[in-house]
Amino acid sequence: MPHPNLAEALRSILPAQTVLDDGPARLAHGGDRWFAHSSPDVVVVPTSADQVAALLAHCHSHRIPVTPRGAGVGYVGGCVPELGGVSLSLAKMDRIVDLSPADGVAVVGPGLITAALQAAALQHNLFYPPDPASLKECSIGGNIATNAGGPRCLKYGVTKHYVLGLEVVLASGQILRTGGRCHKNKTGFDLVAPFVGSEGMLGVVTEATLRLIPEPPARAMASAVFPQFPAAAQAVQTILSSGHLPSALEITDAFTLKAARDFLGPGRLPDGQAHLLVEVDGRPAAVAAEIEELSSLLFRAGASHVDLAPDADACEALWQLRREFSYSLRATGLVKLNEDVVVPRSKLVDLVDFASLLQAESGFPVACFGHAGDGNIHVNIMVPTMDDPAVRARADLALDRLFHQIIAWGGAITGEHGVGIAKRRWFPEAVGPTSLAVHRALKEALDPNHILNPGKFLPSTPPT
Ligand SMILES: Cc1cc2nc3c(=O)[nH]c(=O)nc-3n(C[C@H](O)[C@H](O)[C@H](O)COP(=O)(O)OP(=O)(O)OC[C@H]3O[C@@H](n4cnc5c(N)ncnc54)[C@H](O)[C@@H]3O)c2cc1C
Repeated sequence: MPHPNLAEALRSILPAQTVLDDGPARLAHGGDRWFAHSSPDVVVVPTSADQVAALLAHCHSHRIPVTPRGAGVGYVGGCVPELGGVSLSLAKMDRIVDLSPADGVAVVGPGLITAALQAAALQHNLFYPPDPASLKECSIGGNIATNAGGPRCLKYGVTKHYVLGLEVVLASGQILRTGGRCHKNKTGFDLVAPFVGSEGMLGVVTEATLRLIPEPPARAMASAVFPQFPAAAQAVQTILSSGHLPSALEITDAFTLKAARDFLGPGRLPDGQAHLLVEVDGRPAAVAAEIEELSSLLFRAGASHVDLAPDADACEALWQLRREFSYSLRATGLVKLNEDVVVPRSKLVDLVDFASLLQAESGFPVACFGHAGDGNIHVNIMVPTMDDPAVRARADLALDRLFHQIIAWGGAITGEHGVGIAKRRWFPEAVGPTSLAVHRALKEALDPNHILNPGKFLPSTPPT
């Protein structure tokens, strides 16, 4: 519902330049990389936690929706202000407040771009492992709110494993500081945890203290071609059951490889119908020995060709290509319904077979690639348009088939992108009634007026 005079009211409590209500600003803050769009009434771009606190206190008393926004490159419509009100952009709170090699921490604003943190850490030979493929565009606040992951999470864990402390502005406007610079802390409940992955529905992250670890001194990678996708999926199990824990283990199917070849030009990717990238890191001698062992193992597992990237620069060149896969699928001109489903690893080959079945049944190409070692495969249903109701209905049917199967296998409907708008239909079934009630109780306790990111995956009474 419209909120008349909201901009004027906010300018009376915030610096005028932080409150925008012109058409282009509202339009630019209405969507992300999914295809929902809804313009907010007002965009607020604060530069301090105190400004966020003043904004939330006002919106709490007047029951005005507030949707936090990082860089707006989410894949599930999470930062779309569906019910209008305020789009709260944290983009200008992007400072590295402190980077301490002695403590192994970085204290950063939520708007900091992930790649900028990684680059700053590297200058001190430190490593911030969470590496979403969008790392040059996405923000730390968005990563925390979605508990983002990436290829190296196989060995190093996801964003939550690196959040030691948070400053969070609660819906009431109170500022909570929890956790801190200690790498272990068991003082009371773990109040950091509920905010990580909370998709902007429990509080607004205004500062994060993140764990940094030593940068591994060496990396190497094997890039293996397989004649068929299921054989590549089977090789993942072979590697992990042979005592290896690669830092990343990424799989790609034929459709994605073709899209990437078309997008990136000839000669950039090897031939073949399926592809595995295996990265190891650690001390130089150990890395050199392990990549040789893995190369032999890959041939024994059915690879027709294996290329080795012997050092960090060669690995980064392969990662640059891998990060283009999402963009390559988008460049096909088809609409990519990117579902970051996860299955227990023993179901990996079943998932790959199921994707072929889904393709045959739905008539839509289904492109699969992703973090095979985690059982987290991005199943991309490629549809010609989402504007045609008939196509949309068929796509919804295919998505229903996919998610019901994932839930039946004991899998997760999202491993890293979050629920947002895109997956909210399946959320109650995915978590079950008791978990849903606990989610609701937590929301009620922290945001009783339901102002924070309302209308998303928790069915709740929207603000009136
Ligand atoms: C090409 C491409 C590749 C991708 N690859 C990956 C990948 O490998 N792994 C992965 O995990 N994701 C991936 N993503 C998805 C996306 O980049 C991540 O979800 C990322 O974490 C979103 O960050 P953002 O800053 O853009 O957040 P936004 O899209 O702005 O917001 C995402 C959610 O976080 C909330 N939020 C944002 N900032 C805050 C804050 N300060 N406090 C509270 N809530 C907040 C929003 O309300 C929203 O619910 C990819 C996206 C693209 C476009």
